[in-house]
Amino acid sequence: MKKIAIIGSINMDIVSSVMQFPEPGETVKGLEFRTCPGGKGANQAVAAKRLGADVVMFGKVGDDIYGKQALQVLENSGVDIRHVETCQGVNTGIAVIHVNKEGENYIVIQEGANKHVDIDYIKKIQPFLDTCGLVLLQLEIPMETVKRAAQYCAEQGIEVILDPAPAAPCDGQLLRCIDFITPNEGELKKIACEDDMEKGARKLLDAGVKNVIKKAGAKGCYFINRDRMDYIAGFKVKAADTTGAGDSFNAGFAVARAKGYEDRKALEYANAVGALAVTKMGAQDSMPTHKEVELFMNDLKRGRGI
Ligand code: ADP
Repeated sequence: MKKIAIIGSINMDIVSSVMQFPEPGETVKGLEFRTCPGGKGANQAVAAKRLGADVVMFGKVGDDIYGKQALQVLENSGVDIRHVETCQGVNTGIAVIHVNKEGENYIVIQEGANKHVDIDYIKKIQPFLDTCGLVLLQLEIPMETVKRAAQYCAEQGIEVILDPAPAAPCDGQLLRCIDFITPNEGELKKIACEDDMEKGARKLLDAGVKNVIKKAGAKGCYFINRDRMDYIAGFKVKAADTTGAGDSFNAGFAVARAKGYEDRKALEYANAVGALAVTKMGAQDSMPTHKEVELFMNDLKRGRGI
């Protein structure tokens, strides 16, 4: 199986739940408090590792307690963290999340060390990237860095999967280096500046992306390239928490590609990983193992009489 490189964010999520959000200047008592490791990069790394892949994480944390905890979680999951750097005098990326009893939230991201994942770092890690067969990127590190990493990988023949989240304008230089881009509905609209899915996807293909995978929540996903358009139905599950669905889908797709699955089979696998992730609470905690995905898919096939 090809080794998977993840170049991306490593965060700690600081979650505080309240009955009602305070007004400006008001103080309210909270209901519950917890910290949990997050960041799209780290989430995708943990998810890919659980699915049985050989995973190397590239990124940065700060020299604080959150950085130590985030790295510990990655290491305990079996992700190779030898190339993750600790920035002195900088905070680890954090997301401060307030949730009210209606489940609505406010999120403030402090990028911290993620902002320091720069082009020099990409130059430094190039020899290690060369040992990987595919790379997973997201947009929680600087855009210039994502661009440089994608360009380098494309030049070396390393397959590039971009999860364009959080959505940001992506220029042609970046898009030309992407083998698979995996926006959800809102991200596709924003990046392509187009409300119609097919037109939006075609715009990205015209800009040089090789394949577009539109994640479509419970419905599953769509696959669009110059030759064909395909719909891959999602799996019916009872959703408990959709946090991390996109991250687990991306990890599932990357692992399936690393194993050499063809596109449609890889997307069915990714749909199953995403579906299982939404049946549990949390992001990294909800990521399924390969065994769980296999059992789930086999049970369904049997149930459907396939
Ligand atoms: P994001 O989390 O990036 O917004 P989606 O909500 O589209 O992305 O979810 C990513 C993938 O996870 C979907 O394409 C699908 O495979 C799976 N998924 C998400 N929500 C559900 C659900 N309620 N039931 C089954 N599968 C789901």
